[in-house]
Amino acid sequence: MHYDYLIVGAGLFGAVTAYNAHKVGKKVLVIDRRQHTAGNVYTENQHGIQVHVYGAHIFHTNDRRVWDFVNKFSEFNRYTHHVLANYNGEIYSLPFNMFTFNKIWHVNTPEEAMKKINEQIKSSGITDPHNLEEQALSLVGYDIYERLIKGYTRKQWGRSCNELPASIIKRLPVRFTYDNNYYNARSQGIPVNGYTDMINNMLDGVEIELGCDFLNRRGEFENIAEKIIYTGAIDEYFDFRLGALEYRTVKFENEFLQDVNNFQGCAQLNYTDEKTPYTRIIEHKHFYPGIETSGTVISREYSQEWNKNSEPYYPVNDEKNNELYKKYKQLADSKTNIIFGGRLGEYKYYDMDQTVLSALNLSDKLFKC
Ligand code: FAD
Repeated sequence: MHYDYLIVGAGLFGAVTAYNAHKVGKKVLVIDRRQHTAGNVYTENQHGIQVHVYGAHIFHTNDRRVWDFVNKFSEFNRYTHHVLANYNGEIYSLPFNMFTFNKIWHVNTPEEAMKKINEQIKSSGITDPHNLEEQALSLVGYDIYERLIKGYTRKQWGRSCNELPASIIKRLPVRFTYDNNYYNARSQGIPVNGYTDMINNMLDGVEIELGCDFLNRRGEFENIAEKIIYTGAIDEYFDFRLGALEYRTVKFENEFLQDVNNFQGCAQLNYTDEKTPYTRIIEHKHFYPGIETSGTVISREYSQEWNKNSEPYYPVNDEKNNELYKKYKQLADSKTNIIFGGRLGEYKYYDMDQTVLSALNLSDKLFKC
């Protein structure tokens, strides 16, 4: 055995685990099939702007240990996430808050807004919702549903709201304050030099091989280390022998606008009508308040059905897929030298702070950090 640990995947989970293993003197090799480190949090400098290549990433957490940990590897800026919605040319504030209610109904006080919402819920007459449309109407009423939920959700899931299960929306956060900070977390921000720089600092001193797919060199890699930490897809590792787990994927259409310095005035603008084909536009420079560059980079996002040739982004954690995952997990548990972790290894949507926490917990167990 050449190594104590082979870590498959140089994303956030792999990097945190590799850092901790290296710190306690373990001999570690990290491989990734991509030509770069950082997995889905990868950012790259395009025209002087850190572009979030696999989708916009805002770090937010309530966990002090996680925040202290990531701050060891990067300074974070003061970016606070605000999301706006464009519905047929009108701009609304998200998540639903007093700015939104003022825009829709011209109400100014929480009491007036509550009254409006309660009237709308009552007039929907729905007490036992059977699908997502009925669920949304029973929680926030017609006006909000029609302008801010219906079209966006249809584009996200590729199906009408009345064909989707009510369970997708458990609750819809409604704020009766003029607070439009998207996250409630105590700490948030973005690494000042981008996520790739932060991940590379975690991997400093660790041996890395990029453009290297574990599955293409399985025979060699299975015997190269005492233990394998695998952050790729669990079903793919087992050759999909029980069937494929399903995901939603996103197509990103990037554009550099050379003559435009400020395209939309904010980082994220959702298009909540049905006729605009994309779900949202990200303008990357706004993640770095105060940045001055000429030109701007925007990404239009299209939510799409996943197939084995596209990137798996969001696990579809419905009953069918969760059952299938459990069976793969049983197979995984029967192997003694491999641990599956991260969003693909555990088939779980993890925010970045949850990914870090999960990798720290595993490190505690393995390396007594
Ligand atoms: P990954 O980053 O996917 O890393 C796994 C790595 O393994 C990849 O680099 C892959 O190439 C490699 N790999 C897989 N199979 C193999 C193989 N066979 N051989 C070699 N290498 C392999 N979280 C937030 O907190 N805030 C956000 O704003 C946010 N936005 C998001 C937006 C989108 C579109 C998505 C999909 C997620 C978002 N997240 C966000 C979640 C965040 O991306 C994850 O928490 C994080 O990337 C998970 O890290 P990971 O290491 O588990 O997975």
